[in-house]
Amino acid sequence: MRAIDLLTRPVHAVGALALPSRCPGCSVPVAEDHRFCAACWGTLHFVAPPWCAACQRPFAYDRGPDALCAACLAERPRHAGVRAAVAYGPVAGRIAVRLKHGERIALAETMARRMMRVMPPHAEVMIPVPLHRWRLWRRGFSQAALIADALTRRTGVAHDHHALQRRRATTLLRGLGRRERAKQVRGAFVVTRPGVVKGRAVVLVDDVYTTGATAAACTAALLKAGARSVTILCWARVLEGDD
Ligand SMILES: [Zn+2]
Ligand SMILES: [Zn+2]
Repeated sequence: MRAIDLLTRPVHAVGALALPSRCPGCSVPVAEDHRFCAACWGTLHFVAPPWCAACQRPFAYDRGPDALCAACLAERPRHAGVRAAVAYGPVAGRIAVRLKHGERIALAETMARRMMRVMPPHAEVMIPVPLHRWRLWRRGFSQAALIADALTRRTGVAHDHHALQRRRATTLLRGLGRRERAKQVRGAFVVTRPGVVKGRAVVLVDDVYTTGATAAACTAALLKAGARSVTILCWARVLEGDD
Protein backbone atom coordinates (compact mmCIF):
# COMPACT_ATOMS: atom_id res chain seq x y z
CA MET A 1 0.00 0.00 0.00
CA ARG A 2 2.69 2.38 1.04
CA ALA A 3 4.75 1.64 -2.05
CA ILE A 4 1.76 2.44 -4.27
CA ASP A 5 1.23 5.71 -2.42
CA LEU A 6 4.82 6.66 -2.99
CA LEU A 7 4.55 5.83 -6.64
CA THR A 8 1.22 7.41 -7.43
CA ARG A 9 1.33 10.62 -5.43
CA PRO A 10 4.22 12.25 -7.24
CA VAL A 11 2.68 11.23 -10.56
CA HIS A 12 -0.58 13.05 -9.65
CA ALA A 13 1.39 16.09 -8.57
CA VAL A 14 3.29 16.19 -11.84
CA GLY A 15 0.04 15.70 -13.77
CA ALA A 16 -1.52 18.74 -12.06
CA LEU A 17 1.49 20.91 -12.75
CA ALA A 18 1.65 19.86 -16.35
CA LEU A 19 -1.95 20.92 -17.14
CA PRO A 20 -1.55 23.53 -19.87
CA SER A 21 -2.96 27.02 -19.38
CA ARG A 22 -5.86 27.65 -21.71
CA CYS A 23 -7.28 30.76 -23.32
CA PRO A 24 -10.41 31.85 -21.36
CA GLY A 25 -12.15 32.61 -24.66
CA CYS A 26 -11.50 29.57 -26.84
CA SER A 27 -9.46 27.08 -24.74
CA VAL A 28 -6.40 26.89 -27.00
CA PRO A 29 -3.19 26.41 -24.97
CA VAL A 30 -1.59 29.72 -23.92
CA ALA A 31 1.59 30.63 -22.01
CA GLU A 32 -0.03 31.58 -18.72
CA ASP A 33 -3.31 31.23 -16.81
CA HIS A 34 -5.84 34.04 -17.45
CA ARG A 35 -4.03 35.10 -20.62
CA PHE A 36 -5.98 35.32 -23.87
CA CYS A 37 -4.78 34.00 -27.21
CA ALA A 38 -4.03 36.73 -29.76
CA ALA A 39 -7.21 36.04 -31.73
CA CYS A 40 -9.54 36.37 -28.71
CA TRP A 41 -7.60 39.33 -27.31
CA GLY A 42 -8.02 41.13 -30.62
CA THR A 43 -11.82 40.88 -30.41
CA LEU A 44 -12.11 42.22 -26.84
CA HIS A 45 -13.25 45.83 -26.73
CA PHE A 46 -12.06 47.45 -23.52
CA VAL A 47 -14.38 50.23 -22.41
CA ALA A 48 -12.53 53.56 -22.25
CA PRO A 49 -13.21 57.31 -22.60
CA PRO A 50 -14.61 59.34 -24.23
CA TRP A 51 -17.78 58.34 -22.42
CA CYS A 52 -20.96 59.58 -20.73
CA ALA A 53 -20.12 61.43 -17.49
CA ALA A 54 -22.94 59.66 -15.61
CA CYS A 55 -22.86 56.05 -16.87
CA GLN A 56 -19.58 55.69 -18.83
CA ARG A 57 -21.32 54.57 -22.02
CA PRO A 58 -18.58 55.12 -24.58
CA PHE A 59 -19.02 57.83 -27.21
CA ALA A 60 -17.78 57.55 -30.77
CA TYR A 61 -16.17 60.98 -30.40
CA ASP A 62 -15.28 63.30 -27.51
CA ARG A 63 -18.22 65.48 -26.46
CA GLY A 64 -16.47 67.02 -23.47
CA PRO A 65 -16.04 65.88 -19.86
CA ASP A 66 -19.61 66.62 -18.72
CA ALA A 67 -21.48 65.22 -21.73
CA LEU A 68 -24.32 62.79 -21.01
CA CYS A 69 -25.74 60.01 -23.19
CA ALA A 70 -29.38 60.18 -24.31
CA ALA A 71 -30.56 57.77 -21.59
CA CYS A 72 -28.90 59.76 -18.79
CA LEU A 73 -30.18 63.04 -20.23
CA ALA A 74 -33.72 61.63 -20.18
CA GLU A 75 -33.36 60.37 -16.62
CA ARG A 76 -30.30 60.97 -14.51
CA PRO A 77 -29.32 57.62 -12.94
CA ARG A 78 -29.16 57.25 -9.17
CA HIS A 79 -25.93 55.24 -9.33
CA ALA A 80 -22.52 56.91 -9.38
CA GLY A 81 -21.37 55.24 -12.61
CA VAL A 82 -21.12 51.98 -14.52
CA ARG A 83 -17.60 50.61 -14.75
CA ALA A 84 -17.34 47.79 -17.28
CA ALA A 85 -14.13 46.04 -18.23
CA VAL A 86 -15.23 45.13 -21.76
CA ALA A 87 -18.10 45.63 -24.18
CA TYR A 88 -20.31 42.55 -24.48
CA GLY A 89 -19.35 40.45 -27.51
CA PRO A 90 -18.90 36.78 -28.48
CA VAL A 91 -15.75 36.19 -26.39
CA ALA A 92 -16.86 38.25 -23.37
CA GLY A 93 -20.27 36.57 -23.46
CA ARG A 94 -18.83 33.05 -23.71
CA ILE A 95 -16.72 33.65 -20.62
CA ALA A 96 -19.73 34.92 -18.65
CA VAL A 97 -21.83 31.90 -19.69
CA ARG A 98 -19.10 29.41 -18.86
CA LEU A 99 -18.68 30.89 -15.39
CA LYS A 100 -22.44 30.93 -14.84
CA HIS A 101 -22.67 27.26 -15.78
CA GLY A 102 -19.79 26.43 -13.46
CA GLU A 103 -17.65 25.07 -16.30
CA ARG A 104 -14.61 26.95 -15.14
CA ILE A 105 -14.73 28.72 -11.78
CA ALA A 106 -11.26 30.26 -12.37
CA LEU A 107 -12.86 32.54 -14.99
CA ALA A 108 -13.97 34.74 -12.07
CA GLU A 109 -10.28 35.49 -11.54
CA THR A 110 -9.79 36.19 -15.27
CA MET A 111 -12.64 38.71 -15.15
CA ALA A 112 -11.44 40.30 -11.89
CA ARG A 113 -8.00 40.95 -13.39
CA ARG A 114 -9.56 42.98 -16.21
CA MET A 115 -12.10 44.67 -13.93
CA MET A 116 -9.33 46.00 -11.64
CA ARG A 117 -8.51 48.61 -14.28
CA VAL A 118 -11.95 50.22 -13.90
CA MET A 119 -12.40 49.66 -10.15
CA PRO A 120 -13.75 52.89 -8.56
CA PRO A 121 -10.85 54.48 -6.62
CA HIS A 122 -12.58 55.06 -3.26
CA ALA A 123 -14.52 51.83 -2.90
CA GLU A 124 -15.26 50.87 0.69
CA VAL A 125 -17.29 47.69 0.30
CA MET A 126 -18.32 45.48 -2.62
CA ILE A 127 -21.78 43.92 -2.83
CA PRO A 128 -22.42 41.27 -5.50
CA VAL A 129 -25.80 41.31 -7.26
CA PRO A 130 -27.60 38.46 -5.47
CA LEU A 131 -29.35 35.46 -6.96
CA HIS A 132 -32.64 34.34 -5.53
CA ARG A 133 -32.02 31.63 -2.92
CA TRP A 134 -33.71 28.91 -5.04
CA ARG A 135 -31.49 29.66 -7.97
CA LEU A 136 -28.47 29.81 -5.67
CA TRP A 137 -29.44 26.46 -4.18
CA ARG A 138 -29.83 24.86 -7.62
CA ARG A 139 -26.64 26.28 -9.03
CA GLY A 140 -24.60 26.05 -5.84
CA PHE A 141 -22.82 29.35 -6.33
CA SER A 142 -23.35 32.91 -7.47
CA GLN A 143 -21.13 34.10 -10.30
CA ALA A 144 -21.23 37.71 -9.05
CA ALA A 145 -20.09 36.56 -5.58
CA LEU A 146 -17.21 34.58 -7.14
CA ILE A 147 -16.09 37.68 -9.05
CA ALA A 148 -16.37 39.86 -5.90
CA ASP A 149 -14.32 37.28 -4.01
CA ALA A 150 -11.58 37.40 -6.67
CA LEU A 151 -11.64 41.22 -6.58
CA THR A 152 -11.28 41.21 -2.78
CA ARG A 153 -8.19 39.00 -3.08
CA ARG A 154 -6.63 41.43 -5.54
CA THR A 155 -7.71 44.81 -4.07
CA GLY A 156 -8.18 44.16 -0.35
CA VAL A 157 -11.62 45.83 -0.54
CA ALA A 158 -14.02 43.64 1.45
CA HIS A 159 -17.21 42.24 -0.03
CA ASP A 160 -20.38 41.00 1.65
CA HIS A 161 -22.68 38.60 -0.19
CA HIS A 162 -25.31 38.52 2.55
CA ALA A 163 -26.01 42.24 2.91
CA LEU A 164 -28.23 42.47 -0.17
CA GLN A 165 -30.83 39.78 -0.85
CA ARG A 166 -33.20 39.04 -3.70
CA ARG A 167 -36.51 38.51 -1.98
CA ARG A 168 -38.42 37.28 -4.98
CA ALA A 169 -37.39 35.40 -8.06
CA THR A 170 -37.74 37.43 -11.22
CA THR A 171 -38.65 35.90 -14.53
CA LEU A 172 -36.05 36.12 -17.26
CA LEU A 173 -35.66 39.71 -18.34
CA ARG A 174 -34.43 38.80 -21.80
CA GLY A 175 -36.80 39.98 -24.51
CA LEU A 176 -38.56 42.47 -22.27
CA GLY A 177 -38.58 46.19 -23.00
CA ARG A 178 -36.91 48.74 -20.76
CA ARG A 179 -40.06 49.63 -18.85
CA GLU A 180 -41.13 46.00 -18.40
CA ARG A 181 -37.72 45.04 -17.03
CA ALA A 182 -37.81 47.87 -14.51
CA LYS A 183 -41.28 46.76 -13.39
CA GLN A 184 -40.11 43.13 -13.00
CA VAL A 185 -37.27 43.95 -10.62
CA ARG A 186 -38.70 46.91 -8.73
CA GLY A 187 -38.72 46.07 -5.03
CA ALA A 188 -37.10 42.67 -5.65
CA PHE A 189 -34.05 43.51 -3.54
CA VAL A 190 -33.70 44.27 0.14
CA VAL A 191 -30.73 45.15 2.32
CA THR A 192 -30.70 42.77 5.28
CA ARG A 193 -27.52 44.15 6.83
CA PRO A 194 -27.80 47.96 6.63
CA GLY A 195 -24.72 48.34 8.86
CA VAL A 196 -22.53 47.01 6.05
CA VAL A 197 -23.53 49.74 3.57
CA LYS A 198 -24.60 52.71 5.70
CA GLY A 199 -22.53 55.83 4.96
CA ARG A 200 -20.18 53.90 2.67
CA ALA A 201 -19.09 54.08 -0.94
CA VAL A 202 -20.57 50.81 -2.25
CA VAL A 203 -19.49 48.99 -5.40
CA LEU A 204 -22.18 46.73 -6.84
CA VAL A 205 -20.52 43.79 -8.63
CA ASP A 206 -22.11 41.87 -11.51
CA ASP A 207 -21.02 39.77 -14.47
CA VAL A 208 -23.03 41.34 -17.29
CA TYR A 209 -24.77 44.71 -17.40
CA THR A 210 -27.58 44.74 -19.93
CA THR A 211 -30.24 47.46 -19.63
CA GLY A 212 -29.35 48.26 -16.04
CA ALA A 213 -32.80 47.41 -14.67
CA THR A 214 -31.43 44.96 -12.09
CA ALA A 215 -28.57 47.27 -11.12
CA ALA A 216 -31.01 50.19 -10.75
CA ALA A 217 -33.24 48.15 -8.42
CA CYS A 218 -30.20 47.10 -6.34
CA THR A 219 -28.96 50.70 -6.27
CA ALA A 220 -32.34 51.93 -5.00
CA ALA A 221 -32.29 49.35 -2.18
CA LEU A 222 -28.69 50.19 -1.21
CA LEU A 223 -29.31 53.96 -1.20
CA LYS A 224 -32.47 53.46 0.84
CA ALA A 225 -30.37 51.57 3.40
CA GLY A 226 -28.04 54.57 3.67
CA ALA A 227 -25.21 53.84 1.21
CA ARG A 228 -23.35 57.08 0.45
CA SER A 229 -22.92 56.12 -3.20
CA VAL A 230 -23.35 53.06 -5.41
CA THR A 231 -21.05 52.48 -8.38
CA ILE A 232 -21.63 49.47 -10.63
CA LEU A 233 -18.65 47.34 -11.58
CA CYS A 234 -19.12 44.59 -14.14
CA TRP A 235 -17.20 42.36 -16.49
CA ALA A 236 -19.13 43.09 -19.71
CA ARG A 237 -21.63 45.70 -20.75
CA VAL A 238 -24.13 45.36 -23.57
CA LEU A 239 -23.70 48.43 -25.76
CA GLU A 240 -26.35 47.84 -28.40
CA GLY A 241 -28.27 50.87 -29.52
CA ASP A 242 -25.30 53.19 -29.14
CA ASP A 243 -26.21 56.79 -29.43
ZN1 LIG B 1 -8.68 32.36 -27.51
ZN1 LIG C 1 -25.11 57.78 -19.64
